[in-house]
Amino acid sequence: MLDLRECKRIVVKVGTSTLTYENGKLNLRRIEKLVRTLSDMKNFGRQVVLVTSGAVGAGVSRLGWREKPTELRLKQAAAAVGQSEIMNLYSRFFGEYGHTVAQLLLTRDVVDSPERKENVINTFETLLEYGTVPIVNENDPISTYELAHMITFGENDTLAANVAQLVHADLLILLSDIDGLYDADPRQNENARLIPVVYEVNDELKGLAGGEGTKRGTGGMVTKLGAAELCLSQEIPMVIANGERPEIVQDILDGRHAGTIFVPKKWK
Ligand code: GLU
Repeated sequence: MLDLRECKRIVVKVGTSTLTYENGKLNLRRIEKLVRTLSDMKNFGRQVVLVTSGAVGAGVSRLGWREKPTELRLKQAAAAVGQSEIMNLYSRFFGEYGHTVAQLLLTRDVVDSPERKENVINTFETLLEYGTVPIVNENDPISTYELAHMITFGENDTLAANVAQLVHADLLILLSDIDGLYDADPRQNENARLIPVVYEVNDELKGLAGGEGTKRGTGGMVTKLGAAELCLSQEIPMVIANGERPEIVQDILDGRHAGTIFVPKKWK
C-alpha cells in the first residue's frame, strides 16, 4: 500500500497560474504560503525540489508590458528579467525560514546526453546533501531559441517529471489551477467529476484530457498526463492538486487525499 507520509524526497511543481494574479502580477501571499509549507516539510526532515514557472510572467509584469508577447525575443527577454525576480523572492522567503535555495536552469539536452545527465544528477545530489532547496526552471532565455531544434522541454510539467526521474523522487506534486483530472472539462460541464486515483494513462484517459492551459500558463491536462506517464514508467507516484491553497501539499503528505493521484502498478 502506498503511504505518502513515508515519502522523503518530494518534487513540487508550481505553475504560473498559481504564482500570479489574473493581472499577471506576482501573488506574493500565495508564494509566501508555498515557501512556508515547503520550509516546514524540510524542517520535518523531507527533501524538497521546487520546479517553478513564472519567469516569463514575472518579467512581463516587471517590464510593464500589458500581456505576454508572442514574439520569441521578447519572451526570452521577459524570462531573463523574470527569472531573477522570482529567484530573488524565493531566496528571501526561504531565507526567512533559515533555508538556502539553489538555482538550476535546465535545457532538454541535459536529459538527452548521458554525460550532462550524470553531471546534473551529481549537482542535485550534492545540493540535497547540503540541505538546500534546488529551484528548477527551464532555461527559457536560451532554450526557446532552440525550439527549432526540438531540444526544449517547452513547459514545466514535462520538466518536472524529468526532474523527478533525475533525482529518483518518492513523489511528484503538480500544483495547478484545477483540482485534478476530471472526466469532462469542469469549466464547461458542471457534471464533470474528479477522478481521484489513476493506475494507468491509457488512450481513454488521454481523450478526456483535451484542452489547453490558461492564458498565463502554458501547460494543460495533456502535458500533465504526459508527465504522469513518465512518472508511472519510473514507478514514481504523482499528484495533481489545486495550488490555490499551497498548504494542500502538506495535506497530501499527511495522507489526506486531495486531487488526482497516479499510482504506479506495484502499489495497486
Ligand atoms: N518556463 C516558463 C516560465 O518560467 C513556464 C513554462 C510553463 O508554464 O510550464 O515562465
